[in-house]
Amino acid sequence: MRIRRFIILPVLATVFYLAISHAYKINVNDSVLLISFFWLLSAMIKFGEYILEQEEGSLKKELEDKREQKKGLSGRLESIKREKIYLEEKLLDLSKLYTITKEMSFNVRFRDLFESLTDFLESNFAFGKFSIIFLKREDEKGRIDRIYEISQARKGYIEETELMRNLTAKVRESRMQIFLEEEKELSELGFGKDIKNVLAIPLLFRKKIIAISIIENIKIGDYNKFLILVPQITLHIERINLFDSVEMLSITDGLTETYLRRYFLERLKEEIHRSKESKMNLSFIMTDLDHFKNCNDTYGHLVGDVILKEVADTFKKNVREIDLIARYGGEEFCILLPETDKDGAAIVAERIRQAVEARVIKAYDESVRMTVSMGISSFPGDSERLDGLIEKADKALYEAKGQGRNRVSLA
Ligand code: GH3
Ligand code: MG
Ligand code: MG
Repeated sequence: MRIRRFIILPVLATVFYLAISHAYKINVNDSVLLISFFWLLSAMIKFGEYILEQEEGSLKKELEDKREQKKGLSGRLESIKREKIYLEEKLLDLSKLYTITKEMSFNVRFRDLFESLTDFLESNFAFGKFSIIFLKREDEKGRIDRIYEISQARKGYIEETELMRNLTAKVRESRMQIFLEEEKELSELGFGKDIKNVLAIPLLFRKKIIAISIIENIKIGDYNKFLILVPQITLHIERINLFDSVEMLSITDGLTETYLRRYFLERLKEEIHRSKESKMNLSFIMTDLDHFKNCNDTYGHLVGDVILKEVADTFKKNVREIDLIARYGGEEFCILLPETDKDGAAIVAERIRQAVEARVIKAYDESVRMTVSMGISSFPGDSERLDGLIEKADKALYEAKGQGRNRVSLA
């Protein structure tokens, strides 16, 4: 086939030449030379064409290969693009988680921690309700201490419910995260029909469950993010707890677990300022144990210490959460009653006095009864200044002592 292609052109050229040379009587020698030249030229042209064809074939093949390669590369490029988008999303999630973790690390109060958490959750997740159930410390039964809730309707501490107790028991039993989505299971626990799923994650610290986080109506895509976020929250809760206990140690008296004088006076100053601003009353009670020296002399200092502890405990049991008790000196205590006028303070003081008098204190082998004398001053009536209030209450206390002790005296 190829040989035919090489031959056809020279043969045609020769025939054509022979016809011409015969017609024009061209010399035979010249003809042979010319014909040879033709043959050679034609063969070269055809050979050139052949080479070009060969090259074209291999280039076509190469082009085909490259096309195939391009197809493969485009496929890979697509999957790399998809992976890039996925990784970018993941990076964004991680950087958000990193940001909230960093932000939470600045919080030294639970209130601030919950605020950061609320902002973060609301802007990054779709969920129905997020709650943290705090368990009582050192409580083998896993009883609930308090519950904080973040939802559209509410942000703050909520009352303990049967549902929360059931869920707490379930998580304590499994010690792992639980994902509930079966309608029957959810309704058995006490969830309403609007709850489609619940993710409950235990907050473990040193192998102990310190709290449980509950997320209702979670988006399935957020599941893993919560699993990353919750251990971070655990660390911050523990850090704040530690901060609280160190702070508490630095401001409380070790024996009676009431505030130290220095801290109390700072708070009293603040409260006076606050009362001035809000035009409210405030009362200050100074107390001193009666004949305490005799007690020490009769029963010894160890018994004396137990008495101090028990009397302080009686004080604590007879005041409100917002009231402040401090050990002012040896066996002298003072009490700050915010938003309380003198009549109100007199009622509180009398209640305390009676409670102390009624309590039989058991210390080692002794049973002792104790009494206290009290002096009360109030802001703004008696003074608008800290030292003025202390001085007036001290004076009233001195009068109570003078009138026979075990009594309350008003400035
Ligand atoms: P009064 O009714 O006049 O107050 O008589 P009192 O004996 O209580 O007199 P005073 O208030 O002056 O006595 C304080 C005593 O309290 C002196 C000290 O022995 C005792 N005391 C102070 N701090 C402590 C303490 O931390 N532990 C014990 N056990 N006793 C203390
Ligand atoms: Mg005294
Ligand atoms: Mg005394």
